[in-house]
Amino acid sequence: MHEVNAVTTNEQCDVCGFIWDEIQAGQISALLSSATGQLCELLIAQGDRVARRPEPERWSSLEYAAHLRDVYLSIRDRMVVACVELEPTLPPLYREERVAFGFYELDTVDDMVTELTTAATLFNKVFTQMPDGLRERRMPFAFPVAATRTLSWIASQVYHEAFHHLGDVRVNGELLSA
Ligand SMILES: [Zn+2]
Repeated sequence: MHEVNAVTTNEQCDVCGFIWDEIQAGQISALLSSATGQLCELLIAQGDRVARRPEPERWSSLEYAAHLRDVYLSIRDRMVVACVELEPTLPPLYREERVAFGFYELDTVDDMVTELTTAATLFNKVFTQMPDGLRERRMPFAFPVAATRTLSWIASQVYHEAFHHLGDVRVNGELLSA
């Protein structure tokens, strides 16, 4: 079996304050849909600013959204594999390399709203219908520390990604209007 690294309870994201253990599996679908909808509204509202990086170390709002879309799709697929295999070997996301190899530069707001909404729906469909026993299965996950996590915890992490990057897109809008 995978080694279970010791993780602290009530782990908290250093940047946005999110606490993974506070989210219940039954809440995730609604929370994810809401955060995704808010992010799409911000993309539309930011107009020409959406593709600009306000600072060299920040992505553009469109790139944060593309990253989130790929998180939804990638983790959805990993969860399906974990439902079949007891000890799945799962590919990394390669979040930085994906910007180039996923051709984020070709993304448009119109496409992104469709893709992000569809990806959230696809993720929700898999996780929402998943029987409880499977939700307690574990798989390795590298963030925030390398550990094996239950699929319920990983679903909480998917919502964290939406919550966290919704904050990034908000900050981008503020920086680019200043
Ligand atoms: Zn965070």
